[in-house]
Amino acid sequence: MTAGTGSGGRDGDVGTTGPVLAIGETLIDLIVSDGSPDLATATTFEARDGGAPANVAVALARLGVSSAFGGVVGDDAFGRRLRGVLNREGVDTSRLRATAEAPTTLAFAWKDDRGDGHFSLLRLADRLLTDEDVDGFGIPGLAGIVVGSVALAAEPSRTAITHAVEVAAAAGVPVVFDINLRSSLWPDLAVAAEACRPIIERATVLKASLDDARALLGVGDDPIVALRAIAALPPRIAVLTDGARGSYLLDGEGEPHDVPAFPVDAVEPTGAGDAFTAALVSRLIARDWAAPDIEDVRYASAAGALATTRPGAMEGLPTQAELDEFMVS
Ligand code: ADP
Repeated sequence: MTAGTGSGGRDGDVGTTGPVLAIGETLIDLIVSDGSPDLATATTFEARDGGAPANVAVALARLGVSSAFGGVVGDDAFGRRLRGVLNREGVDTSRLRATAEAPTTLAFAWKDDRGDGHFSLLRLADRLLTDEDVDGFGIPGLAGIVVGSVALAAEPSRTAITHAVEVAAAAGVPVVFDINLRSSLWPDLAVAAEACRPIIERATVLKASLDDARALLGVGDDPIVALRAIAALPPRIAVLTDGARGSYLLDGEGEPHDVPAFPVDAVEPTGAGDAFTAALVSRLIARDWAAPDIEDVRYASAAGALATTRPGAMEGLPTQAELDEFMVS
């Protein structure tokens, strides 16, 4: 079953079930393309559509799940471009507001001499999401909401996201929190942890990378220790990811499982986590939000792996057909 088909929604649902709504930032990624290790020397940039929640909305649509995006762009060319991309992907953009108060958000990305990725956010329209926007989202009728921590790092979007999560939780709408922590956006990690706390308290699903767990929970490098730490938090479902090293979940007996990553020729890791989250959500909807099993996490891992094989966070997201083919190959 997919969300939005109106057939067999959550128990007690009457009539149609709305889409899964990803809320937060959509932006233009400006990626250094001349090999410069630093913005000070960069001369050439490639413009790509992005923003983690927008990527999740596109990934859901490609996987056949009815999806929508809620956020704010500028009333400008980049804002129109992002709305057009989302529309073409089949994402409902009726909750995407264009504002004259700020231009569309930009993010610069580059790799240093060691190949480590860096990110600098020029935070503009995306942070202007308000409680009033959220009240117009129709959250009680949705199949679920997906949020991340980037929108929590500025106001008024932090308050708005927190409000969205409160409304969803009160209405029994599943909340998926893909932490996706960007430490450069926060004055210190204690402030980030404080902003994430009310979301974690109400989330149904927590998806954390090992880096997220290290930063927010102070765990070390052992993924099983990190998994147990996130599983001890309030969300009923917790999954840990660690890039090419794989993903981890606890089974019904509390036993940890290491789900190895699929071996692929990775071109660019951006978007892997977003593809993983979307594929996990598609499986959770199919099982009416019961706890995922190893096969569900393998499916999500396959989506993550495929996303790394093509450049661009959004362009690289797999379709359901590609994912099904990859799983049987
Ligand atoms: P995030 O982008 O949120 O940090 P990860 O990088 O941990 O997320 O990636 C999510 C999942 O995608 C991983 O658990 C893994 O299954 C898959 N994945 C990511 N990078 C690779 C890779 N290089 N090769 C194969 N699978 C990958």
